[in-house]
Amino acid sequence: MDLYEYQGKQLFAKFGIPVSEGRVATTPEEARAAAEALGGPVVVKAQVLTGGRGKAGGVKLADDPDDAEQKARDIIGLDIRGHVVKTLWIERASDIAKEYYLSVTFDRGAKKPLFMFTTQGGVEIEEVAANDPDALVRLHVDPLEGFQPWIARSLVYGAGVTDPDEQKQIASIVEKLYRCFIESDAMLTEINPLIVTPDGEVKALDSKFTVDDSALYRHPDIAEFRDTSAADPLEALAREKGVTYVKLDGFVGILGNGAGLAMSTVDVVVTVGGKPANFCDLGGGGGAEGVVKALEVITADSQVKSILFNIFGGITRTDVVAQGILEALAQMRIDTPIVVRLDGTNAEEGRRILSESGKPNLFVEPTMLDAAKRAVELAR
Ligand code: GDP
Ligand code: MN
Repeated sequence: MDLYEYQGKQLFAKFGIPVSEGRVATTPEEARAAAEALGGPVVVKAQVLTGGRGKAGGVKLADDPDDAEQKARDIIGLDIRGHVVKTLWIERASDIAKEYYLSVTFDRGAKKPLFMFTTQGGVEIEEVAANDPDALVRLHVDPLEGFQPWIARSLVYGAGVTDPDEQKQIASIVEKLYRCFIESDAMLTEINPLIVTPDGEVKALDSKFTVDDSALYRHPDIAEFRDTSAADPLEALAREKGVTYVKLDGFVGILGNGAGLAMSTVDVVVTVGGKPANFCDLGGGGGAEGVVKALEVITADSQVKSILFNIFGGITRTDVVAQGILEALAQMRIDTPIVVRLDGTNAEEGRRILSESGKPNLFVEPTMLDAAKRAVELAR
């Protein structure tokens, strides 16, 4: 789960990382009130889940409350690479002497958290890595040893920070960022830019924060950050029901047992000239309850004209899945044509169960290709 800048900064502050004081605003009037409350110049920042907001016109300095209201009017509704701005973060403007970059990510290859630090911040880190790789210090942390003070010193000296006061502040932020990363179950915590003010104060001017979805259950405070209004309503419904679902644009509703099979099904439907309405992974079991939930989500999409079940039984017995499908259809009324492709363990038995059910809108096909063709035909 990706957090907005202001949410990430809230977590930074909780772990003692210095950030500027600010307020959330959703209207130009609220932006004005925020600027009044903060006093002095402010920066008006679009809260969208994508980077490069500054270049896209989503970050603007404002001298006074009037100006903040005007800048807010400019930024609200702005489309930044497909993300429409609804929320602003108004914070006290900082004077900037230097812009650094500091991040911790999870390096899956090394199976360790990875620190990256450079004094060439403010720009995309990929640019620094490509143009001046020596300026970027990379350092893994052994998860069993945990954080050690030498790590901070190594980053700070490695990047060539010479001012002792700066060194001390950065080292402290490095340690706090690591705690924040671990204790939030983050996948990424990035500060770009980490600034040094003309007075020599170091602080986080931006935040990029990704938390491991699988760990959200132990962070109810972070889970609450989720912006349900930004999500597709069908995807929100799916999340509520615990269904793995991605909305697509077409007209053939797709269910597969297993993410790989569901993705192949999307491809096959396209190959035979159809357009998938969604991706939906039924998971391993294939019991009636899961099928009902998935069908509830899929049929809530008015674009769906036919439904294609693609089931391959490896460990799962397809006759059990066939029973599950029939139980589900007994529990809910669906007029949309449903094509089922069953293969694998006990497939003949499974297909017999479905064929003998006598449901007029239920069609059974033995191969993926035939099933996809049938589903596309029935949708026309
Ligand atoms: P991003 O473009 O999405 O990464 O958004 P940032 O939060 O990093 O802001 C982009 C740029 O705006 C920063 O690199 C700064 O140069 C500038 N900026 C942001 N906040 C301030 C501020 O308080 N004062 C000044 N002078 N510049 C700022
Ligand atoms: Mn930034």
